[in-house]
Amino acid sequence: MKINFNQLETESLIDSLIKELAEKYGKRPEQLESAKLALKHAIKAYITEDKNQVAQKFYANIDYLIQAEKNNDKDNYNKIQCKKKCSHCCSIEVSITDEEADLLLKVAKDKNIKINTKRLKRQASHFSENWHKLGPKDMKCVFLKEKECSIYDYRPSVCRTYFVTNEQMLCDTFKANHKIKTWMPISVAILEIAIMLCGNGGSMAKKLLERIKRDK
Ligand code: SF4
Repeated sequence: MKINFNQLETESLIDSLIKELAEKYGKRPEQLESAKLALKHAIKAYITEDKNQVAQKFYANIDYLIQAEKNNDKDNYNKIQCKKKCSHCCSIEVSITDEEADLLLKVAKDKNIKINTKRLKRQASHFSENWHKLGPKDMKCVFLKEKECSIYDYRPSVCRTYFVTNEQMLCDTFKANHKIKTWMPISVAILEIAIMLCGNGGSMAKKLLERIKRDK
């Protein structure tokens, strides 16, 4: 669902999102307040920014919020195990917004990064439920090169907010379906939901493929 901001009652959207997340994550007033602020900034960015700037504006909001929450919750933040070149989570299905899809394709073009469209097609015909049936090679994100994200500075919001606190080996998507523990403050979760809701969030493979076909 793409939100039409001309008709949107922003305050009521914020309130319903906050309520939903508060019920899910428990009521922590300071976190809810910072979530509310983050949401307002994000939605305002959506209304006022040039469409080409929206994704990067959201990234700045997310990075700022993560930094703030890191300082509020140092003990749990310090349990994060994610390390450069780990890349286990880059084989999970990724969701992005329309604006992120446009940005990623632009960055790939500017940086001359070749996108494996055959793999994208195979990914686009799978969903989270049967994603693992793609097999180890095809499950890999098309931006993952030599175990590193080739578009790291522009990586999608879901990649920016995924912090694992269990041992790295448990994240190995090819070996087993372990229950992964993550660090996700409520404010970041709310912002993430708002971004997906505002930007018509959906399968990265499908969104990239649609645009590649359209621009041929
Ligand atoms: S965009 Fe980058 S960080 Fe995100 S899944 Fe792909 S390679 Fe990994």
